[in-house]
Amino acid sequence: MNINSDSKNFGQRTVLTIYAHADDEVLPAAGTLSLMSKAGWNIRCLILTDGSLSSSPIKGTRHQEADAAGKIIGATYEFYALEEYNFSTQAVIKVTEEAIRRWQPDLIITHAPQPEKYGHRDHEVCAIAVSNVATRKNITLWYSAPPVFLRGFEPNFFVDITSVIEEKVAAIGCYESEVNKAFMQLDAILVLSRFWARELGQKDGYFEAFEISRQCVDASFFYAIANNHQVIKPS
Ligand SMILES: [Zn+2]
Repeated sequence: MNINSDSKNFGQRTVLTIYAHADDEVLPAAGTLSLMSKAGWNIRCLILTDGSLSSSPIKGTRHQEADAAGKIIGATYEFYALEEYNFSTQAVIKVTEEAIRRWQPDLIITHAPQPEKYGHRDHEVCAIAVSNVATRKNITLWYSAPPVFLRGFEPNFFVDITSVIEEKVAAIGCYESEVNKAFMQLDAILVLSRFWARELGQKDGYFEAFEISRQCVDASFFYAIANNHQVIKPS
């Protein structure tokens, strides 16, 4: 593990999320990020665009909304101002490489690559570029669940977020400028979290789903699992 960043403690793990738009990160992953934060991870959320072309009536509030969400889930945010619907794979590769240099992440989470006809053009470009860099640099990479369309997404990693479902709902609620969007409807978000529970044969609870694109581990991974039962769970 790299330890040369001055903004994280020695031995602290860092997750870097890279998403096209603010709110892309909380919908599929707020619960997981909150759990990771409680477990001592350093949570860095990078947003490629600043929402200036958003269809929502409230402009320029995305940064404050993200910071408010970050306070709830224990994440710090960084915005880039790439042009929505127009940024290039190359631009995202550059941003990603730069962020990796600064944060030395142990794990990267981004959009699941989806054919453009099913998903958002920006999500697809982001997914391809981030995958390219993570693969080249051999960094563990997870794809998060698309908000609506599941095509091209094959989840193989599920996180029980029941204990932090209220944090997730509150973090999503911070994005007031987006509440008019269909995918921000609370019942749909809860139903999807319950859907993943059903997928796992669980009668109760809420889950988030990820697809592990690639994962490299060393001995510490097995030690962590072996000592899992000794970990004191947050109340
Ligand atoms: Zn988006």
